[in-house]
Amino acid sequence: MIRRIGVIGGGQLGRMFALEAKRMGFEVVVLDPQEHSPCGQIADEQIVAAYDDMAAIERLGQSTDIVTYEFENIAIASVEYLEQHGYRVSPTSEVLRITQDRLLEKRFVRSCGIATADFAEINRLDDFSGPSMSIGFPAILKTARGGYDGKGQWRVNSLDQARSAFAAAKGATLIYEKVVPFVRELSVIATRAADDTIVCYPAGENTHDRGILMMTVAPARISDNARVRARSIAVTIGRKLGIVGTYCVELFMIASGELLVNEIAPRPHNSGHYTIDVTQCSQYEQHVRAICDLPLAEPKLSSNAIMMNILGSGQGNHLTGEDDLLSDPSIVLHMYGKHHAVARRKMGHFTMLVDGPVDEPAIVRAKSALAKLGWD
Ligand code: ADP
Ligand code: MG
Repeated sequence: MIRRIGVIGGGQLGRMFALEAKRMGFEVVVLDPQEHSPCGQIADEQIVAAYDDMAAIERLGQSTDIVTYEFENIAIASVEYLEQHGYRVSPTSEVLRITQDRLLEKRFVRSCGIATADFAEINRLDDFSGPSMSIGFPAILKTARGGYDGKGQWRVNSLDQARSAFAAAKGATLIYEKVVPFVRELSVIATRAADDTIVCYPAGENTHDRGILMMTVAPARISDNARVRARSIAVTIGRKLGIVGTYCVELFMIASGELLVNEIAPRPHNSGHYTIDVTQCSQYEQHVRAICDLPLAEPKLSSNAIMMNILGSGQGNHLTGEDDLLSDPSIVLHMYGKHHAVARRKMGHFTMLVDGPVDEPAIVRAKSALAKLGWD
């Protein structure tokens, strides 16, 4: 029986996972190098160590009944260690191997018969020929591994810019991607159980600024047909990946209505935060259920929602304007317990519950609610 859950990574995703796991009666042990991490503040115990400190990983395995992870940029060796030493860990190292490398991930998606942006692998300057040049410009160069929130990405419009990006990447393997002229960015949050049951939340619609998610509108303003196709892509990917747990599939919708997969996150996702406030079973609870062999719950939305991320401005560490924000009863505020509001750091988010359609007036309301907040 599972009573204690280990989490590698102590950020906000781990924190919201821990809050749900604790509510359900589980104990949580988190491993993170930073003391009092967002998740460490909630967990029963925090092991303060690097993600690839094998003695610490051993302790985590020993002191819990199952281990999971809250982001994909951890050392795969840590997950393999747990597997090889008889500890339960979910998702598996095989899932992590594919999803932490953009090249393997895109090849995997294509092997499922699902479209992605055109891409090529770049290891040396000579690789800016043949395949990548037939893709052309504008393009994005991304480090194959280790990037998040738009970090490790360069938009390039010429060979010269591509060469400078290559130099800036300091020898890291890169993926050269065609810029997709999308009309919408979507994401499907889904959870797969070991018995192959899969539940999906309706596709949400995401707005990014310089690679960082700003807003999720749920459900997305797309046709029923597109909604069904987005769901079916997420189901196919979950099944072929054999993942057990919550995952997210990020999609681009182009003008023709075709959907292209951008990336897969093998964990709860920023665009699924709203599920805490408007469903009976959030993406985090589904993850607890999946890894603890409990039945999944087909999600039902009690309301539409708009989620806005609250980013640091670099101008102070104390949030201001909460009184004004919370005078609106449709707002649910979530802060992550981070002490330093570095510019563009994700510090919290709010969900605005929307009666009726999530249309432009609702989006304007959510944006003006965000504008009430500041830092000092
Ligand atoms: P991250 O791991 O940082 O989320 P993504 O590949 O999802 O990396 O890139 C972040 C954002 O950058 C995407 O959500 C999208 O807005 C934009 N982006 C990334 N790749 C492309 C692309 N090929 N075409 C157009 N926009 C892109
Ligand atoms: Mg992304």
